[in-house]
Amino acid sequence: MADFMKVAKAKIDASASNLNALSQEIWSHPELNFNEHHAHEVLTDFLEKEGFNVERHFVLETAFRATFGSDNAGPNICVICEYDALPDIGHACGHNLIAECGVAAGLGIKAALEASGNKYGKVTVLGTPAEEGGGGKRLLIKANAFTGIAVAMMAHPYRYNVPRPIALSMTTVIIKFQGKASHASAAPWDGNNALDAAVMCYQAISNMRQQIKPTCRVHGIFTNGGAAPNIIPEEAELTYYLRAIDEGELSVLKRKVRACAEGAAKAAECQGTVEDGTTHSRLLTNDILATLYEKHAVELGLEPKNGQPNRALVATDFGDTSRVVPSISPMYSIAANCPQTLDEFKVIAGSPEAQGPTLIQAKALAMTAIELMQPSGQDTLKKIQKEFKDTVSKLQMPE
Ligand SMILES: [Zn+2]
Repeated sequence: MADFMKVAKAKIDASASNLNALSQEIWSHPELNFNEHHAHEVLTDFLEKEGFNVERHFVLETAFRATFGSDNAGPNICVICEYDALPDIGHACGHNLIAECGVAAGLGIKAALEASGNKYGKVTVLGTPAEEGGGGKRLLIKANAFTGIAVAMMAHPYRYNVPRPIALSMTTVIIKFQGKASHASAAPWDGNNALDAAVMCYQAISNMRQQIKPTCRVHGIFTNGGAAPNIIPEEAELTYYLRAIDEGELSVLKRKVRACAEGAAKAAECQGTVEDGTTHSRLLTNDILATLYEKHAVELGLEPKNGQPNRALVATDFGDTSRVVPSISPMYSIAANCPQTLDEFKVIAGSPEAQGPTLIQAKALAMTAIELMQPSGQDTLKKIQKEFKDTVSKLQMPE
């Protein structure tokens, strides 16, 4: 087994400059939700050249599936690539590195499978678009993209090394107010001001935050505030992200937000509607899989806690994946003194400094996969799957 791991690590090291170029290419061409056409092209080209069987536009226009190995020889291990950017600020979440890490881990696992004479299973590199608000993985799940996968893994760049991050249940809500337009100077008494309703709603939600649990997060913006100052706004809109530790807490939060919207609508004599948008489940980190990953990460020199254990209150559409297949999504530090602001983080995500930590993650994921693919890993794999089934059976499912 050690030899196969050596083979995998050597392949990742030998591919370092190509992987860096791939990551740079994605970083310097930031693309939003479902429009990751350039990233899709460079990633699929890369994987095809490396000998994977590549399905471009898999289920979604900018998703892909790249596989190598045999279905009947052993478990099908999935490594995930994300590659979408944030509006206006580019790759400030470092998804270029998630793509690089997924491809690098895939290369390592493939090299080990080849060295074994293809005796031990299959690797799937899955390209999942639209993590930033589009819920790409949920759409892939609906299309059964994870059927037959034994475990799924990815690694997300962050400020600290957090093998078991807390990724909250999350939903987007869109709050719309419908009023009545009127000239703001000539006949203001004839109007019903939808912007006033939105402002009161925003303030009511801000006050409501005092009564929510420390693990809840509520944050929103105005997405429509009227057309011109001399027209009483007929329509106004707010978009919020609500996050909570589980689906039960999330429905409490939704109820509170709905009450704020109803009160504000009534006060401004407008109609208010609250629509649910994209929803992500809480991330279920498979403990046995995470322990295996940690063992390999530590062997590779990573300090898993780094003084900030579990301090990562985020949300991810990988949470949805973790409901259908045993999963881990460790977060890792990409710089010694990793910056706090998104602008600074973006710079580091595109810098040479992030390369070393990203390839260590790729190796740790590859080692984890290789251990599970060996005959000696079958017992662990069974335990991983039992833990997964037990955990999921106890969950309160999303509304
Ligand atoms: Zn992210």
